[in-house]
Amino acid sequence: MEDFKEPKSVSKKIDTLRSQIETANHKYYVLQAPDISDQEYDDMMSDLIDLEKRFPELITPESPTQRVGGSPSTGFSTVLHVDEMLSLSNVFNMEQLYEWRKRTEKNIGEPIKEFILEEKIDGLAISLTYSSGLLLRGATRGNGRQGEDITENLKTIRSIPLKLMGSDFPDDFEVRGEVFFPLSAFEKYNEERVGNGEVPYSNTRNAASGALRQLDPAEAAKRPLDAFFYSIGNVRNTKIISQYQLLKKLKDWGFKTNLNSHLINNFDDVPDIINKKIETRLALNYSIDGMVIKVNKIDFQEYLGNTSKDPRWATAIKFPATKVETKLIDIKISLGRTGVATPYAVLEPVDLDGVTIKSATLHNLDYIRSKDIRAGDDVVIQRAGDVIPQVVKPSNINNRISNSTEFQMPEECPVCFSQLIKYENDPFTRCINSKCSQQMKRLIEHYASKQSVDIEGLGEGIINQLFEKGLIRSITDLYKITSDDLIDLEGFGQKSVKNLLDSIEKSKTKPISRIVHGLGIPHVGSELSEVLTDYFGSIDSIFLATYEDLQQIDGVGPKISESIHKWFETTENKKLLEELKLLGISYKDLTIKTTSNILSGKNICVTGQLSKFSREEIKNKIKMLGGKFHSSVTSNTNILIAGENSGTKLQKAENLGIDIINEEAFDSLIRSNV
Ligand SMILES: [Zn+2]
Repeated sequence: MEDFKEPKSVSKKIDTLRSQIETANHKYYVLQAPDISDQEYDDMMSDLIDLEKRFPELITPESPTQRVGGSPSTGFSTVLHVDEMLSLSNVFNMEQLYEWRKRTEKNIGEPIKEFILEEKIDGLAISLTYSSGLLLRGATRGNGRQGEDITENLKTIRSIPLKLMGSDFPDDFEVRGEVFFPLSAFEKYNEERVGNGEVPYSNTRNAASGALRQLDPAEAAKRPLDAFFYSIGNVRNTKIISQYQLLKKLKDWGFKTNLNSHLINNFDDVPDIINKKIETRLALNYSIDGMVIKVNKIDFQEYLGNTSKDPRWATAIKFPATKVETKLIDIKISLGRTGVATPYAVLEPVDLDGVTIKSATLHNLDYIRSKDIRAGDDVVIQRAGDVIPQVVKPSNINNRISNSTEFQMPEECPVCFSQLIKYENDPFTRCINSKCSQQMKRLIEHYASKQSVDIEGLGEGIINQLFEKGLIRSITDLYKITSDDLIDLEGFGQKSVKNLLDSIEKSKTKPISRIVHGLGIPHVGSELSEVLTDYFGSIDSIFLATYEDLQQIDGVGPKISESIHKWFETTENKKLLEELKLLGISYKDLTIKTTSNILSGKNICVTGQLSKFSREEIKNKIKMLGGKFHSSVTSNTNILIAGENSGTKLQKAENLGIDIINEEAFDSLIRSNV
């Protein structure tokens, strides 16, 4: 272990690690050009954590370890904004935009040569206060004069600098920007929510807001939030002379700025840029609801000042609302793989942003009731956060049919006709019949998905066909399909039949974590599936695990343990596992071949910094020698391999009287057994 007798050398080492980690964060999250591996990053982080544990007096709030360090709170305190966070005035067409320019030039008394055109992110406005280059506080916009202190949650966003880069930033200043939820992560995130029995978010702005308002920063950290920055609260106190320069400075200081901003020298270019943006905006990874035009020179901005509500030197150009009206033909129920029954609208097909919309979500019964939406109504449709089409409300010119009635949730599942159940404290109505074919279809789709056993070519359409022909009723039936069964299906030829059968066969040897994920156990996502299989080594061992065993695992609480335990206890699921085994599905991790049994039955955990092996290598070695790799030390752990700078795991192992060996001892153990 490195000896730090000299306090100066410790704090120097800590400083170096912190600056290396923050540089890596900046390259990864802000510039999106990482130059070190995840492993190198993790190693630096674990070194820093270990050092800070040994020298807790050296922990500072801006240390990268403190991003998820905050403890849960019971509420947010109020923050007064030093400079009011004003909203922007709006224009809705080019005519109004030119009027705005005319008015602005009249106020200045001369033509304005330069403007900046920026995307208007549909997220949440926030304000960050920095003092001597360190993040002091982060707050919501609130009503503009006062917001809420959400510093701990904002610190979990990796693209927000805790410590600024460079040196020419003002001593005390406030930076403003917009937090958003990336579209690429939105759908998957909603699926997970539904899988966990939570209500999905209808758009990305609500998802971002929900994340920032988490009382537990550890929860907020799980949401993939990001942020763009575009202004300084008290810019007159800086030497910055233009908005263009301001964006550049923010970038130099380590903030993420939107690279799609335009410096406008010819105002007549603006309409073209806006029209192009309307056409291409769906390709962006965030929602925008317009563009913002700003006078470039800060002098001019100062001179123009604000009205009582908004600055005179900027305005938002709102995109035409992507709303259309159509007829709601019927309200039907769709079932997810966990049996949740969600009402949706069957629509007279209508074009929205170049996409034909035939159905739209209605969220739940409460939503339908509060908007009084009925079958036969003319309704307004919009794409929520540019993702999922939803019914907003009945249209103003709605000619409601005379015999229209309020929508009722059906009493029976529309697919299997068993009774639908609504439990107390559960927002959803559910079909709890595990044999229900609709649930089974969704489950098979999930089982075949990329994150699970990845059966290429087995999508929703084919699964529906296979069901209609009575060829499949469960996951196990997939493995009984023959080429004769498939050749008659719509769109199938010799080649596609062979490809599908090949990928079904290949799915038998996927890592067991993927199979566990594919089983669709409530609350068990792909990450937890990996943790479970790492910990238990085989599906049989997970099956045999008690409720208490499960709770030994990091991140598994009572709710999840119960869910897993209940799943494995269910007769149908037991039968499913038996059948899959008979069909030749591997229940052990085949990616690692066991070459020796010297560690057989041993649960092994690794901590600290290793010099001979990477984490992945030592994990595989343990498995090859018949042992089980555990991610945390528990009373079931038999051996702890401790590297340099081992922290709490080492202490815990010592307290529990677990055998502790160093890397060399492990290495010679391997060598003596090859
Ligand atoms: Zn059903």
